[in-house]
Amino acid sequence: MTASDRDAIERVAAAVAAARSITALTGAGVSSASGVPTFRGEDGLWKKVRVETLATREAFENDPRLVWEWYDWRRSLIRNAQPNAAHHVLAAWTRTRGATLITQNVDGLHERAGAERLIRLHGSIWHVRCWNRCHAGRADWLDDRVPMGALPPRCPHCGGMVRPSVVWFGEPLDQSLLDRARAAAACDVFLTVGTSSVVYPAAGLIPDAKAAGALVVEINPDATGTSHMADLTLRMSAADALTQINEHLTSSKATC
Ligand code: NAD
Repeated sequence: MTASDRDAIERVAAAVAAARSITALTGAGVSSASGVPTFRGEDGLWKKVRVETLATREAFENDPRLVWEWYDWRRSLIRNAQPNAAHHVLAAWTRTRGATLITQNVDGLHERAGAERLIRLHGSIWHVRCWNRCHAGRADWLDDRVPMGALPPRCPHCGGMVRPSVVWFGEPLDQSLLDRARAAAACDVFLTVGTSSVVYPAAGLIPDAKAAGALVVEINPDATGTSHMADLTLRMSAADALTQINEHLTSSKATC
């Protein structure tokens, strides 16, 4: 680690310690150390499969079985994954520092690490809902079978297809969740962790935070679409950066 990394870690730790409100926006990079592939990193899923062919309404309409096979594969990967240090540190901050987590991830690893105050902007890979939006199947429900069985799975109410309860490209976000996320972006310290910041409206929370006067911290080994907005940048993995920030917080508390 360079001297400037050490300096940045100390500055982030001091800001977190002094903050009245902390919000973290997380993306797929937070789960990559758990073995869950990102969409755009080195191990990006899209190197093997193009997004347009799978994560859209049109793809599902054209070939629901193929889309479900892909989700079934992702669910089996995630089922075998464990939350890593980044999930654990962020979850601890939600419990002990009142931090809010806004995640674009659908994998459920923040929840498994015990996160509270979590806004799941893009849904959950473990939930499904009726494709026809039949009356009884309007709300989503948990279906965490791995493998799912016959594909595409069927709605228990109307017998039609069910779809994963995630936000696909081109679909709108739940407005009430987006409102809550925007309200949380107005905070003292806003961390953007493991996201390429190219998927909107989630990436728009970073300029929102900046405009509200937050100290913006980017944690990502690579530059992103919003790197120029960061007040402090940590070019390292989420697990390393958050572990080190947390160690500083714990040791400075011990010497108080
Ligand atoms: P993305 O794939 O576009 O970008 C991942 C980012 O993580 C990159 O900027 C990469 O440099 C960074 N990264 C890689 N390893 C890292 C590490 N160890 N520590 C910190 N950063 C690291 O992901 P995105 O920005 O979240 O947007 C893609 C969309 O894909 C989201 O909507 C999300 O719902 C979905 N997605 C979710 C999962 C998941 O739930 N785990 C996985 C893939 C994609």
